[in-house]
Amino acid sequence: MFYDLTKIKKRYTLKEIEKSNVGSEHWEYIGRGKYVLDFSYASYVNHSCDPNAYVEFKTLGKRYLIALRPIKKGEEITKDYALEAVDQIDNETWILDCKCGSKNCRKKVSGDFSNCQRRSKRKNCRIYLHG
Ligand SMILES: [Zn+2]
Repeated sequence: MFYDLTKIKKRYTLKEIEKSNVGSEHWEYIGRGKYVLDFSYASYVNHSCDPNAYVEFKTLGKRYLIALRPIKKGEEITKDYALEAVDQIDNETWILDCKCGSKNCRKKVSGDFSNCQRRSKRKNCRIYLHG
């Protein structure tokens, strides 16, 4: 599935988001310190430390959601948030207290890909090198 965030006109900095009353969900980084409020299907994909999908970037604002394995009808589509955390490009980081329930759960998920567990990195580096 392809989604294009560059068509969303209103862009915010992190400080503007913190001051707003919109909430902290559904913000997507599009580069140069700017975020957009995204209510596309892709913004509703939850995190898992053992995901069945991943996001491939065409650019920061144009992305594909790609299955890592066959996904059964009714199965929740999940992705590893750390693998698409591009906030660190502008020295922004976040930490998620994870309760995904997978046996490989990292408990704390951050936007710093370099801190992912070795097994997750090995599995997902292949993804990053793809394309
Ligand atoms: Zn987890």
